[in-house]
Amino acid sequence: MSVASLPMIIAIDGPAAAGKGTLAARLARHYGLSYLDTGLLYRAVGKRVADRGLDPDDAAAAARAAEALDPEELENPALRGHEAGELASRVAVHPEVRRALLAFQKDFARRATGAVLDGRDIGTAVVPDADVKIYVTATAAVRAQRRTAELRAKGRDIAYETILDEIIARDARDAGRATAPLAIAPDAVILDTSTLDADAAFEKAVAIITAAGGQPAAAIRAPVSPGPVF
Ligand code: C5P
Repeated sequence: MSVASLPMIIAIDGPAAAGKGTLAARLARHYGLSYLDTGLLYRAVGKRVADRGLDPDDAAAAARAAEALDPEELENPALRGHEAGELASRVAVHPEVRRALLAFQKDFARRATGAVLDGRDIGTAVVPDADVKIYVTATAAVRAQRRTAELRAKGRDIAYETILDEIIARDARDAGRATAPLAIAPDAVILDTSTLDADAAFEKAVAIITAAGGQPAAAIRAPVSPGPVF
C-alpha cells in the first residue's frame, strides 16, 4: 500500500461495533476526504424491504429494493437503529443486493476529493486498490459492552447477553456468507481497539496512514516551501 498521489482512498473494514464508524468519520475530517458509511446502504435496503412487508431473506425482493434505493434515504435516522442493523445483515447475504450497491460505492470512492469508506468488504471487494486498508476489530465481549452502553444511553434496556449473542450471530453471518464475506484483506493493517478509547484508536490509525504516505488536509493545502515570486 502506498499513497503515491492524491486523492487518497482509505478502506476501513471490520465486524459490528468495533468502532469503525466513529474512526472513519474522524479520519475523513482530518484528511479532508468524503465519507461513506456503506452499512447504511444495506440498512436502507433492509428497511425498505421490511416497510413493504416483504421478507429480507427473499433475494429477489431484496434485490429490487437495492436497485430502487435513493441515496437520500441514507439520511433517515431510523437506519442507525439496532433493528435496521439486523435487517441489513440479512439482505447483505444476497449476491444480487451486493451487485446492485457496488457501482454506487465504487463511484463514491473515486470522487475527486478522495474518500473514506467503511464496511465489511471495502478493502477486499469494493476498492481492492485502496491506498490504505485498516481492519478495525475488538473482542466480541468488548463490542457487546460498547453496544449495550450505547443502547442504554438511548434509553433502551437490552441485556448484555442478548447483545453479545446477536454480535456473535452477526459476525458468523457476515464472515460466513459466500459473496464478499467479512474478511481481512492481505494488505490490511489490523487495528484492535479492545483496549483503546476513540482518541487512541484515531492516533493509531493516523500513524498507519502516515506510514503509507498520507497527509492531513491542512498539510496538503499548505505548500511545503514558498513558490517562486514574480
Ligand atoms: O456497519 P453496519 O453495522 O451498519 O452494517 C450493517 C450490516 O450490513 C452488516 O452486519 C453487514 O451484514 C452489512 N454490510 C455489508 N457490507 C458492507 C457494510 C455492511 O455486508 N460493506
